[in-house]
Amino acid sequence: MAVVSAQRDFAVQIVNRLREAGHTALFAGGCVRDLLLGRESNDFDVATTARPNEVRELFGHRRTLAVGASFGVIVVIGPPELGHVEVATFRTDLDYVDGRRPEGIAFCSPEEDALRRDFTINGMFFDPIDERVIDYVGGEEDLKGRLVRAIGDPHDRMREDKLRMLRAVRFTAILDFSLDPITADAIRQMSSELVVVSAERIAQELKKMLVDRNRRRAVELSEDMLLLRIILPELNELQKQSDWSTTLRRLELLERPSFELAMAALLQSLDSKSAVNKICRRLKLSNDEIERICWLVEHQRDLDDASQLSLALLKRLLAHPFRSDLLQFVEADRTAKELGIEPIAFCREFLRSTPMDQIDPLPLVTGDDLVAMGLRPGPKFKQVLDTIRDAQLNLELTNREDALERARIEWNA
Ligand code: ATP
Ligand code: MG
Repeated sequence: MAVVSAQRDFAVQIVNRLREAGHTALFAGGCVRDLLLGRESNDFDVATTARPNEVRELFGHRRTLAVGASFGVIVVIGPPELGHVEVATFRTDLDYVDGRRPEGIAFCSPEEDALRRDFTINGMFFDPIDERVIDYVGGEEDLKGRLVRAIGDPHDRMREDKLRMLRAVRFTAILDFSLDPITADAIRQMSSELVVVSAERIAQELKKMLVDRNRRRAVELSEDMLLLRIILPELNELQKQSDWSTTLRRLELLERPSFELAMAALLQSLDSKSAVNKICRRLKLSNDEIERICWLVEHQRDLDDASQLSLALLKRLLAHPFRSDLLQFVEADRTAKELGIEPIAFCREFLRSTPMDQIDPLPLVTGDDLVAMGLRPGPKFKQVLDTIRDAQLNLELTNREDALERARIEWNA
């Protein structure tokens, strides 16, 4: 909370500064919505009559970035702990050509700027000095009525930028609002056109939805709006099966999951690492994200009989960097299926009562040792190292001499 109010103070300073220079400057968009809802805002955007070059002159070239200058957006760099504030000149979008982005922009009045925004609750301004809301689009009323409603004609607005369909779902779910029926109809009618939107933008929305507390509602609403079948057609078959209610339940049970964990929970029932991998690549997720999601899906069953596993296997799993995700994943899955969570309790107790240097001890023998023994790296080399490691984790080998001796025997076997 303290950081947020410091961020806000920094944004207020920017507003003051612009105003002293004779410009109009207001908080705009999502941060106004969040302020009015008493929610923590992740960023404070400022909208102003000042032109981008004027903003840069005022705050200095070294303290600003012209990343979005063609959209009239200048980033003002704050102290490291506060991040950046985007200062955007009031603008209107020129015609949308391809259902994704406008041909260009034109500077305009605050009112026209409000009208280019997506939803009424996202279309308000706030004057942080007079503490006054400036609302040209009926956003305050919709906020009170807890309604997500497109500004203007929903069909036109969704047609301009198809991503708005998914944003409507996200805001409705995350805020626990309802979706205006006319906006919903427009989305259902146009859902198949989401395909023109880039994978990156879709993935970004998906991430925000899946890490949120209301992720289940977001997925259900995406399904209801016929968008889920566009983003993840692989789930279509699943939705006809009882697996689907398990999936929804599993998603719901996760507590503050990473995106990767939530994604793994969503895709788990596909049960095939290669199918999951393919989806992640299509969404252009990062290699790290893909690795984590696939690892979780691949190892989803590994802890089912945790207490029966060899020490080596158990330790390998519990020493793994993704172990806490795996534990939560399996716990949510088993709970969703009304299976007991004894295996998870067993693992947690094992982790609690076993020092890390026993779960993941320094190796008794390394690759360098094998090379020094005159062995050559290759498939067998790795196999020998793995065998020695397993024996060490199983407490069958406890000192280096025995381990080296065993390596020699394995190599010659
Ligand atoms: P959050 O930051 O929590 O995702 P937000 O409302 O701040 O929510 P941003 O993507 O940061 O969303 O955008 C800031 C504001 O810009 C929005 O509140 C909205 O007014 C406008 N906006 C963003 N994306 C679009 C879009 N695709 N179409 C129309 N207006 C948009
Ligand atoms: Mg924002």
